[in-house]
Parts: sequence; C-alpha cells; structure tokens
Amino acid sequence: MEIKIEEDILKVNKEISDELNKIFSNKKIFVVNIMGSPGSGKTALLEATIEKLQKEFKIGVIEGDIETDLDKKRLSKFPIQIVQINTGRFDSECHLNAQMISDILPKLNLDKLDILFIENIGNLVCPAEFDIGEHKKIVVLSVTEGEDKPLKYPSMFRAIDLTIINKIDLLNHIDFDLELLKKNILKVNPRVKIITISAKEKKGINLWINWILKNQKNSS
Ligand code: MG
Ligand code: ZN
Repeated sequence: MEIKIEEDILKVNKEISDELNKIFSNKKIFVVNIMGSPGSGKTALLEATIEKLQKEFKIGVIEGDIETDLDKKRLSKFPIQIVQINTGRFDSECHLNAQMISDILPKLNLDKLDILFIENIGNLVCPAEFDIGEHKKIVVLSVTEGEDKPLKYPSMFRAIDLTIINKIDLLNHIDFDLELLKKNILKVNPRVKIITISAKEKKGINLWINWILKNQKNSS
C-alpha cells in the first residue's frame, strides 16, 4: 500500500514536471535544479554564478528552504528575479515538488528570463526523486562531507547530470582524498560530469559557467 501511494505521487509529479518543462522550453528558459546537503555551498555557488552571468543573461532564482528567506536575502543584492518557497507548511517539507514550482510560477515574469536556477532543500535523499520541470539536475558536494557520500546516497548521484565538488580551498586543511571521491561518484554514475571548484575563492567557476552555456544552447 505504501509503495502504491508513493508510485502515484511520483506519477502525478512527473506529469506536472513534464508540463513545466514544456513551458520553460517554449519560453527558451534553461532550468537547473541545484541539490546538495545543507551547507554544501549551493547559495555560494549561485552568488559566484550570477556575478559572472548577470550582464549577459536574464537570471531568475527559485529558493527552496523549509523555513526563512535568508538565502533569498543573500541574493537580493543582484538585479534578478528571486522567489522563495518555504516547504515547512507542506506535508513534504524535505524536498521541492513540481506542484510547488507550478504554484509559484505566476510570480515570475517568464518573458524576461534566460536561465532559471532552482535551489532545492538541503538533502541528499528525496529531492532526487522529484522532477521539477528542470533541464538539468546537479548536486553540490563539499569536501568536508567525506568521500563516501556517493556510495551512501546512490539515487541522488544516479539522478544528476553534474557533480560540483566545492570548497577545494580546504583540501590542505583536512584529511580528504579527492581522487577517491571522484572514483566513488563514477562508480555510481559513470556518465556524470565532475567539476571541482571553490565558490569562496572563485576557483573553477569558469568550468561551471562553460557547462551552463553549452547545455543552455543544447536545450533551446
Ligand atoms: Mg542555501
Ligand atoms: Zn522529501
């Protein structure tokens, strides 16, 4: 019974997600679903990204958090469209779903958007199961989280198109094997792309920007 309900929820979610994806594609908006643990640096990545792209592209962000609009406030220094979803008032507060995105869409001017980033709830489990109309899914993983995360959360690492390994500025200060992490990621998903960055020190950001530009072109 439990499994049946779960299947139905995911089926309905997929239908709404497909509709959203059509809307985004018709409007030529490239949509990226950014997932990752709390504190992995999703918002820091967005800051570094918007800084680079804001002149050339009209950018929008949907911020997902259980409570607060702290991340939205952090990004409000940029002249972009930002809306907040607080999942704390829903039953399923630990992930965004397609209905939540659909409900908030009227608050965005889609005719004035080229790229839309959706920052998902900090969680390596269920966000992976729920499509939200995106073209690409990525995960941000910081080196402080340990090399074993891909093995412990394989469905997340199977769902994504790109892994961003963040906080490489800390590599000299911690006991961490970067090559082992990459090996573990590829063990779970041999096709996934991997980019290493330091959002704080703005290292490696161009590789990520190039990934965006390439995939944006392919999706529109
Ligand atoms: Mg954040
Ligand atoms: Zn959840």
